[in-house]
Amino acid sequence: MDIAISSDQSLSNYMSQSVAVTGTEFNYYLLCKRKLWLFAHDVEMEHTSDNVLLGKLIDEESYPRKKKEIIIDGAVKIDFIDDNTVHEVKKSNRMEEVHIGQVLYYIYCLRQKGIDIRKGVINYPKQKRTTEVMLTPDKECEIKDVVKKVIEIKNAEQVPDVLNSKICKKCSYEDFCYS
Ligand code: SF4
Repeated sequence: MDIAISSDQSLSNYMSQSVAVTGTEFNYYLLCKRKLWLFAHDVEMEHTSDNVLLGKLIDEESYPRKKKEIIIDGAVKIDFIDDNTVHEVKKSNRMEEVHIGQVLYYIYCLRQKGIDIRKGVINYPKQKRTTEVMLTPDKECEIKDVVKKVIEIKNAEQVPDVLNSKICKKCSYEDFCYS
């Protein structure tokens, strides 16, 4: 059964509690705390990354009939919800752990709005595979903990150190961090 939310409908007025952390911030925390801090301090480079553009293109061209983007408080964008399941479309499973965290956070945000949902699926159309996730009560506690840490990093005065990791090669902040 689909949740009755129309295409592009914002949930901001659905329930009063606003989400404290955007989907992008949550995602960046999982990827790199420095990236989160830079983004939160208005150093934005994503539009320069071909990798980001390719991801957006795959996202837009996949599952066109099912696409009903859900936006929560202008802060969290869910690709679509089908059969009481949150779906996120990704171009590759290279960062699967991050994708899993991201979808669990989306489910958490929906639950904060009073929607009884726990299941998510990450769709990798290029690889023709899917990964299922479930927001169990234990996972919900972990997500709450991450939300607190995201807020701490956003409010920190010092920028976290560079990662010196292979993921930096694909990061839009690479020139900024290593020049
Ligand atoms: S280049 Fe590396 S250290 Fe810098 S923001 Fe990106 S992932 Fe983090």
